[in-house]
Amino acid sequence: MEEPISISNLNDFIFCPASIYFHNIYGEQDRILYQSTKQINGTYSHNNVDKNTYSTSKYVLQGINIYCSEYNLIGKIDCFNIKTGTLTERKRKVINIYDGYINQVYGQCFALREMGYTVNKIIIHSFSDNKNYFIDLPENNKELFDNFKKVIDEINVFSIKDFKPTNVQKCNGCIYEDICAFSMKEI
Ligand code: SF4
Repeated sequence: MEEPISISNLNDFIFCPASIYFHNIYGEQDRILYQSTKQINGTYSHNNVDKNTYSTSKYVLQGINIYCSEYNLIGKIDCFNIKTGTLTERKRKVINIYDGYINQVYGQCFALREMGYTVNKIIIHSFSDNKNYFIDLPENNKELFDNFKKVIDEINVFSIKDFKPTNVQKCNGCIYEDICAFSMKEI
């Protein structure tokens, strides 16, 4: 069996496939040392979830590990309300709903459904301005669902030895630029 794909990689891969390797090396703990403020925004609000402090309701699952066999994904959910079927992914500040964010919540959604839960609403919540962004369920948005599957297919066949970056702007703003042998950063 192929090694499972981390759900967080569904976001990182879109930014740059090589960044997955550094993410795996530094992990979530050390990653904070390398993150720019902008990138931290995407993960900061998970602190409460990881400490299991968001809600004490027995109907709310928080920070639990998940596995999706259909797409061979592993990861964690942020918050899932069993009673309402609402899956919520909180981020510190959302300025744009990136495809990577959607891929992550789709992965979480499929894993929860495999566990027998009904997911009928997906929300990306922006912590700093208290905004909710309602995301189409995968079965209701073919374009987003196809994109989710395409990224997984691309990850499964990706080979770092054939990788060539093409976007210098990404390298210029990349947190791993100092340590990345593929960097195109302009000096
Ligand atoms: S420096 Fe460039 S090639 Fe390296 S991980 Fe960052 S974006 Fe990718």
